[in-house]
Amino acid sequence: MIYLDHNATTPLDARVLEAMLPYLKQQYGNPSSTHHLGRAARQAINAAREQVAALVNARPEQVIFTGGGTEANHLALLGAVQEEAPACIAVSAVEHASVRGAAQSLEHRGWQVDVIPVDEQCRVAPDIEPYVHADTRLVSVMWANNETGVLQDIRAIAKRVRKHGALFHSDATQAAGKVPVDFATSGTHCLTLAAHKLNGPKGVGALVVERASLLKPLLQGGGQEKGLRAGTENVAGIVGFGAAAEFARRELSARTAEWRALRDKLEAGLRALGITPFAQHAERLPNTVQFSVPQFTGETLLEKLDQAGFTLSSGSACSSGEIAPSHVLTAMGVPRGSLGNVLRVSLGAGNTEAHVDAFCTVLAGLMQGSRSWRSALAV
Ligand code: PLP
Repeated sequence: MIYLDHNATTPLDARVLEAMLPYLKQQYGNPSSTHHLGRAARQAINAAREQVAALVNARPEQVIFTGGGTEANHLALLGAVQEEAPACIAVSAVEHASVRGAAQSLEHRGWQVDVIPVDEQCRVAPDIEPYVHADTRLVSVMWANNETGVLQDIRAIAKRVRKHGALFHSDATQAAGKVPVDFATSGTHCLTLAAHKLNGPKGVGALVVERASLLKPLLQGGGQEKGLRAGTENVAGIVGFGAAAEFARRELSARTAEWRALRDKLEAGLRALGITPFAQHAERLPNTVQFSVPQFTGETLLEKLDQAGFTLSSGSACSSGEIAPSHVLTAMGVPRGSLGNVLRVSLGAGNTEAHVDAFCTVLAGLMQGSRSWRSALAV
């Protein structure tokens, strides 16, 4: 099996597991307890908070641990406007379902949701004026897109948003650990992170927030996480997140150089097959390539590749067994004819040149085996 789906999730780093194990075994104290076991758990959480803050150049007290990226996105969008009368929020057209879902629940409560379009390269124009009004309370634009890997000009967008007096949230779930993310200079008020995208455990994430007073909690209870996320902390998960953040920070430049070289090799291989990946002219994550093979007919390429031992995604949403056309590619204006057989390769730890070579060889073989591809070649 060759795993090429690191934007969906990543394997747990063995060093991260080592760091977590004591908190799944003997160090089982509740961090709110005042006895020695509780204090040890609290210390471990505080150390992890420093590690996560360091990854994104934030202050430790700005890190609010959550149960993952989806929850952090909800805390940002819903927590920022919790006690307000309906007004407007704006989100980009290519946000993850967790941001779009939170926006939709505000819409059901009478809020106006303005959708900021992207160009054919998946880029939000920094000129967001038409979508941000005097009564816009919050704007959300993701740092990096999970399908195309396209990076947004967050600083430029933040400047515009702040001029209007709105809060600015960015979902950096896919960016952190793959490109430098600097909260302090980004201009964002809050930033979403998720551990499982950077070789940490699933079910733990964080919302980094300029100051806790900007938000109201979604859950009431024991007052954990500055009162913004009630509930006994996932100590082992948080410790794992901290360790994963620390390794990602230390190894970022080595990792990105390695992925970029593999990605460039893959793109050269695709071009040799007549395939042009999406968003080639935008700045992108170093590990992500999304492309379509519309000439392929019959079963989906994804299934064929799976059978051949390659684990990857299309990047498009899957509901009730039907593959829906990607909202990201649709927003980019990709023609309907190119929305079939979309593949997303997302590279990560453990991938090698041999994996890329093997993928290109198998893909070429499948394409040659496809009837319509053969007839296209014969023309
Ligand atoms: N945001 C983006 C951009 C993502 O890619 C994902 C996960 O796929 C999420 C949010 C959701 O994160 P989680 O799975 O931790 O809830």
